[in-house]
Parts: sequence; C-alpha cells; structure tokens
Amino acid sequence: MVTNRSAYNPGISLLPAENHARNGRRKNSDCGSLWDLLDAVKDPEIPALSLWDLGVLQDITQIDGAIVVTITPTYSGCPAMQVMAEDIAATLRQAGYDNFRISTRLAPAWTTDWLSELGRQQLRLYGIAPPRNESPIHCPRCDATEIRLISQFSSTPCKALYQCRDCAEPFDYFKPI
Ligand SMILES: [Zn+2]
Repeated sequence: MVTNRSAYNPGISLLPAENHARNGRRKNSDCGSLWDLLDAVKDPEIPALSLWDLGVLQDITQIDGAIVVTITPTYSGCPAMQVMAEDIAATLRQAGYDNFRISTRLAPAWTTDWLSELGRQQLRLYGIAPPRNESPIHCPRCDATEIRLISQFSSTPCKALYQCRDCAEPFDYFKPI
C-alpha cells in the first residue's frame, strides 16, 4: 500500500531527518532538470529502482559552471556503486553535459530508511520484500507473513533469501541497515 503521508499529515514529516533534508535539496535546487534527467539512472541490481528512490542520489549543484553530483554508497564495498557512478556519467554525457564530477559522501551513512515509498513499492513489484525495522516481513507476491529464512545471503550480500509458507515462492528480502 502506498500512502501519501503529506495528504493526511500536513506539516508533520515522518521521514528520517536526513531524508527530509534530501527532499528539500531537490525541491529547492536550481538544477531541477538534472534531477529529472538522473531519475533515469537505476540501481544496476534492481532495474526498477532509481538512485533517487534508493536514497543514493544526495545532491546536484553547480560550482563554477561544473555540475557536482553527490552520492552516498548503500554500504561500503557494494560492488554496484562503481556501476552507478559510471551510469550517472554516461547519462550526463548523453545529454550533452561534459563538465561534471561525481562526489561521494560517506557520512551520514546510507540506511534503508532512505528508500522512498515509491522505491519500496517498486521493490515489491520486482519480487523483493522491502526492509522493515519492526513489523513482520511480508511475502512480496501474496503479502503473507508466514515465511521462513532460507539463507542470510541471497543474490547480493544486502539481501536474504526467504520462502513464503503460503504461496511457496522463494523471495529476496532487502535487509535493513
Ligand atoms: Zn507468498
């Protein structure tokens, strides 16, 4: 279920403070078209999920005529990060920008709390259970909570492999960090 929090909770943000600040940087940016352009850059492991919805894309600014794209790695040593940086560079070049640099910001560290609501929905559509801090994990296919852990590590270290006891499907769970 996707809810628009601001619709019924005006003025009260339930987002983590850092994500709230990130949304503000995009909203108040004078590089609006560049944010839209980089929405086309997806997580190489989950092609439905943009770097923005993943929470990796932090800021886009222009300094002395150069575009500076700031990203935060999902976790140190994530093999997808180099691909993400290359995809950002390729997307900017294809759009005719060649004066840019990609800056990596390590603190504050990325957490799965930065995944957007849309990002969580896209994970489910892709067959991956989105991270949950307290509530039970739901099967992304049938929404059942009767599940069993098969392996702490799945296709990538950031995911665990579960099986649904209801529909019997195995599925990946994006582990919260
Ligand atoms: Zn199921």
